[in-house]
Amino acid sequence: MTTGAPDHEDDPAERKMRFLFALRSRGVTDSRVLSAMERTDRGRFVKGLFADRAYEDMPLPISCGQTISQPSVVGLMTQALDVQPRDVVLEVGTGSGYQAAILSHLARRVYTVDRHRRLVREAVALFRDLNLMNITALSADGSFGLPDQAPFDRILVTAAAEDPPGPLLAQLKVGGIMVLPVGQSDAVQSLIKVTRRERGFDYDELRPVRFVPLVEGLASE
Ligand code: SAH
Repeated sequence: MTTGAPDHEDDPAERKMRFLFALRSRGVTDSRVLSAMERTDRGRFVKGLFADRAYEDMPLPISCGQTISQPSVVGLMTQALDVQPRDVVLEVGTGSGYQAAILSHLARRVYTVDRHRRLVREAVALFRDLNLMNITALSADGSFGLPDQAPFDRILVTAAAEDPPGPLLAQLKVGGIMVLPVGQSDAVQSLIKVTRRERGFDYDELRPVRFVPLVEGLASE
């Protein structure tokens, strides 16, 4: 919408239709992914100044200087991950919790970790509120994965590393898939899909993306 404020901008059903239409037009076509995203109200994950932009297809700032990803990128990453109903998924980079909430509708169990304890605390409260019982959120340096819960059927990393971290490759089941952005944090990165085979890994480059960097160690808050 360019001018004025038509009444339907405030109508939640209309807003949801436009949100889903934007996803489809950017290539998110998997019906399970679309319905998981339809069930996940992005407005609950964006607070403060930017809350009224929650239904636009753009990344937005969240606490701790981090960002909630653009919905179409979330959709494309989720689609590439090809999550099955029995899967145990690890997400590295909880952020707002939005991506984990979407995954929780597709997988059996979701582990999500963030180096910021505050983001984890806020996400845990939201998951409880939304009655999403199959998510476990922990503060940890996700570049080491979660050895106690490994191996995983699927791993999704939502912060960019220069290369796929070795511990994450090691914690992927044979036949498992990992989707992650790789590249320098100040340049355009590539979203890649790694599939673990009996012997070795297959790598597919999906599209250029831009993510905050994967940073070592726990943050101070
Ligand atoms: N998936 C999130 C967006 C994540 S932004 C959402 O849906 O909102 C990237 C997140 O990765 C940030 O919250 C950042 O704190 C986290 N992060 C960066 N390096 C990390 C690391 N080594 N371990 C765990 N989390 C990390």
